[in-house]
Amino acid sequence: MSGTMPAVVNYAREPLSVELREVAVPEIGERDVLLRVGGVSVCGSDIHQWRGSHSWHVNYPCILGHEFAGTIAKTGARVTNFQEGDRVVSETAAVIDESSPLSRSGLYNLDPSRRGFGYGVDGAMAEYVRVPERCLHRIPAALPFHKAALTEPCCVAYNAVCINGRVRPGDAVLVLGPGPIGLLCAHMAKLGGAGSVIVAGLPSDHLRLRVAQQLGATSTLEGGVAEYIAGVGDGLGVDVAIDASGHSVTLQTALQTVRPGGQIIKVGWGPQPLQFSMDPLVQKNITLSGSFSHNWPVWGRVISMIVSGQIAPDPMISRVSDLPNWLHCFEKMERGEYVKAVLTPETGADDQGSSRSLSLD
Ligand SMILES: [Zn+2]
Repeated sequence: MSGTMPAVVNYAREPLSVELREVAVPEIGERDVLLRVGGVSVCGSDIHQWRGSHSWHVNYPCILGHEFAGTIAKTGARVTNFQEGDRVVSETAAVIDESSPLSRSGLYNLDPSRRGFGYGVDGAMAEYVRVPERCLHRIPAALPFHKAALTEPCCVAYNAVCINGRVRPGDAVLVLGPGPIGLLCAHMAKLGGAGSVIVAGLPSDHLRLRVAQQLGATSTLEGGVAEYIAGVGDGLGVDVAIDASGHSVTLQTALQTVRPGGQIIKVGWGPQPLQFSMDPLVQKNITLSGSFSHNWPVWGRVISMIVSGQIAPDPMISRVSDLPNWLHCFEKMERGEYVKAVLTPETGADDQGSSRSLSLD
């Protein structure tokens, strides 16, 4: 395992500063494992870093990729619960302060010193990645790596909808923004018993909205959200509105369309300042809940639900492709022509043209 390996490296702040490089195989510490990557799915945040449009601090140069699964190739001297050959998925909190009050109460995802793979430390768009043992969860042989790589975004959605959210059987749920997280939030709302799950996007989201239907959405919209919601049920609005778009202004639509006493879950980021009044929040007695990342109990639950087939993210995977094909996958995802692409360092893994592919090429 000494020597070099191919890796997708984000090397500078300037837009388009990402390339495939030969880099050293990582050294591991006593409590780390060296993971041979089996699959790493591309996240919207990887695309933001490639475009230079991200709002978070990146430790350049940094290997991208934080949604991944693989096989343990080597263990550090003090690793006790895992061994070589184990198939695992990894959480994303690569660095935490284990003595912080938040970490001690299991909320290490909210620890301000948390740093994640792909921006804080080297990520998994490579042949190997160094992972602390505490991040690992075992997965069964029957779960393929390309599907296991989607555990992380499924955990984001589960935490938003099922832990921070309060979706009850029969609820009307509106999801604003049909990116991967929005689609998985729709899936979780359906699993949580929602009576109707409405997913709203733009005309350019055509493919994603088709996938929303496969994941359990009862209706999809390419615009006209407020008008549509006014005609649903008693016309007072939805019980829960989930803002999963990357634009601050979407919160205004959520405020407009949620019913009095209802809940807004904000899981989409948006650095732009708000240019509208928050008064409807007061007048309608709305609960506004932010949701960030996930922690150990969420991972345990989500993995068991993926293994049992209850969570079925398969329609999201538009393409599984070799690592050197990263740029094509980033471009296709950016244009909404792929919902999710999963990269793998295994050569010959490309499945373009298979029945899984939903791409337009
Ligand atoms: Zn992600």
